Amino acid sequence: MKKRFIVLGILLAVFGFNKMNAQILSDKAMGAVGKGVSGFTFSDADAVALAKQSIAELDANNPVAGPADGYAIRLERVFGKHASTDGVTLNYKVYLVKDINAFACADGSVRVFAGLMDIMDDNQLLAVIGHEIGHVVNHDTRDAIKAAYKKEALLDAASSQSGKMETLTQSQLGQLGSAMIDSKHSRKQESEADAFSYDFMKKNGYDVNAVESAFRILQNLSEGADASFMTKMMSSHPDSGKRADAAKKKATKDGLYNAYVQQKIDNTAPVKAKTPAKAAPAKKTATKKK
Ligand SMILES: [Zn+2]
Repeated sequence: MKKRFIVLGILLAVFGFNKMNAQILSDKAMGAVGKGVSGFTFSDADAVALAKQSIAELDANNPVAGPADGYAIRLERVFGKHASTDGVTLNYKVYLVKDINAFACADGSVRVFAGLMDIMDDNQLLAVIGHEIGHVVNHDTRDAIKAAYKKEALLDAASSQSGKMETLTQSQLGQLGSAMIDSKHSRKQESEADAFSYDFMKKNGYDVNAVESAFRILQNLSEGADASFMTKMMSSHPDSGKRADAAKKKATKDGLYNAYVQQKIDNTAPVKAKTPAKAAPAKKTATKKK
């Protein structure tokens, strides 16, 4: 059921895109398309702007965990201190959906799905988020949306031979929206993001074995009965077993390898004490005595 929110989110994002795209298209990119394929330009700023608009639409149309929600509190606790890292500023939110997924966008937005937080402990979550940060730092997210956009714009360039400027169709925009949430990076980009994650864990003093363990969880799930929730993350990140092996190899080489033991996972908000934990004031005790 919850998956529909995401699909709806993409669709709404697609509709929401129209106006903004027209703006972007009207200046730099569209002008280049008008001149022909070889003159195509799409700046980094365009990629960030497009990502920003897209994530705003996705946020508006998905169940985002509020600040008092246990998932949001946990993500803040675990990840908050790393919001500014390696020259990028990240913003992060939880989507309260069952899917096991997380994604990052060119503007530094990281979105973590509740389903992922249900099965990953703090270290494993950091390993996955570290991977996503890697995609942002390495400009993979920027490349992805640029590539998707370029592909669409090139189609437009062909049709613009009629001399008519055309904005992207909804199906073309749909591909952009999908690219945001389900970016398929190259194998090289994936292993570089994995390496980034490993280094991120090591640099910050976390147990690097959580990287192997996180991939092992994904591997096991993909082979198990819950595979239906895995579609997004598995389709964009195949070969979990191999990646787990690679992480293990690194840890072994660093002399840090230990079989990782998953810690307690708690996504509940701390219960607020309605009354002070200490014993009732002496005054009241005294009145009760009568
Ligand atoms: Zn990835």
